[in-house]
Amino acid sequence: MNTQIKQILKDHSLRHTQGRADIISVFLNKNVAISHSDIEAEMDSQYDRVTIYRTLKSFLEKGLIHKVLDDTGTMHYALCDDACSEVEHQHDHIHFKCNNCGETTCLENVHIPKVSLPSGFSYEESNYLITGTCDKCN
Ligand SMILES: [Zn+2]
Ligand SMILES: [Zn+2]
Ligand SMILES: [Zn+2]
Repeated sequence: MNTQIKQILKDHSLRHTQGRADIISVFLNKNVAISHSDIEAEMDSQYDRVTIYRTLKSFLEKGLIHKVLDDTGTMHYALCDDACSEVEHQHDHIHFKCNNCGETTCLENVHIPKVSLPSGFSYEESNYLITGTCDKCN
């Protein structure tokens, strides 16, 4: 049993199950934003759609992963850094979609510029996607 995965589950007060551990290891191996079907493909139909869906949902709630919107319209997910918790997600970083390899990555150190909303609008979440060519393809 991978100690890094064990620690991640512990840090987010998630009970250890094989399914959770396996899905975290997919995130750790990929290191880019991945979709539900990417996970399914990696799992070799070991877990059904519902199990994967529920696992992702609990990871989102616990601040372990965050949603990444790219231009395909398919929801992708990426691991959060340590700042996120069950209480709230704490990041305002930009996502970068490479038009060459098609991969979307978190640019943790590039922050979304603050915008001020008109009165009557309240902020919840923002998504900022930049497309171009990534460092690996350049
Ligand atoms: Zn987060
Ligand atoms: Zn690329
Ligand atoms: Zn991200």
